Amino acid sequence: MYSIAIHGGAGTLAKHLFTPEKEKAYQDALALAIAAGDVILKNKGTSLDAVQAAITVLEDCPLFNAGKGAVFTHDKRHEMDASLMEGISLKAGAVAGVSNVKNPIQLARLIMEKSEHVLLCGKGAEDFGRLNKISFEDDAYFFDELRWNQLLQVINEDGAHLDHNVNVEIPDKKFGTVGAVALDVYGNLAAGTSTGGMTNKRWGRVGDSPIIGAGTYANNATCAVSCTGHGEYFIRAVVAYDISCLMEYAGLTLELACKKVVNDKLVKFGGEGGLIAIDTKGNICLPFNSEGMYRAWKTHDTEINTSIF
Ligand code: ASP
Repeated sequence: MYSIAIHGGAGTLAKHLFTPEKEKAYQDALALAIAAGDVILKNKGTSLDAVQAAITVLEDCPLFNAGKGAVFTHDKRHEMDASLMEGISLKAGAVAGVSNVKNPIQLARLIMEKSEHVLLCGKGAEDFGRLNKISFEDDAYFFDELRWNQLLQVINEDGAHLDHNVNVEIPDKKFGTVGAVALDVYGNLAAGTSTGGMTNKRWGRVGDSPIIGAGTYANNATCAVSCTGHGEYFIRAVVAYDISCLMEYAGLTLELACKKVVNDKLVKFGGEGGLIAIDTKGNICLPFNSEGMYRAWKTHDTEINTSIF
């Protein structure tokens, strides 16, 4: 038995702005990513490998706000965050504020496996990646015209913006931190998340995605969780760990824990977003309190399912 779920970001999608072609492009990209994880799980690979493989496909796709499609910072750069965690060992790796790294999730994995640390940031993290021979790309690889226009819309404002909230006048709402959660045939859980963060962010702003317990968490005693949404709220609500705690200490099912955190606590708090979660029985929950969330899921005995709204 195995299961896998992925997300490509949550936000205020306006359904009427989606053409059938655009919707298909997202659904195809999600299906490709979940298939990359599925083939690993089917061949008795680990949930950690499946999570990394699915996220890598999404990082390489310009439709999503991670890797190649990462949003611009106020300084017209890309600063990416990623993390992943393994439920059997509670080992985790994370990276924050790195530039030009082709696949930040790969760097997070290296930090988990080849360093004595959990979270590395900025230049130091890039140096660690170079030492371990990960791929770097030049700025042109990360340039995307829509992301650039999103930045120009808000560059003179003070705040940072979730990428999907910026595009009021552009009828093409691209957005999406990416993440994956999986249960493998050995009963082990894993979770991972990768993002470019928020458009126009500055001062080295870091959101929830690389924060273990906030944006990502996995524990074989409970569940694996990957979040997407307004990171500041997700950090303050310690969202991913909160779901796990509600299961571990209060005995809630995955579904009830997700409902409580996403549709009750976060809503009262003002935190827009959603998450994907999976438990040790392979149950999958994909709650969100925004208008939509790009998502896909599959178990050992079902087909690939994709959904946006
Ligand atoms: N959670 C991410 C952040 O705040 C953004 C997102 O999920 O789209 O950096």
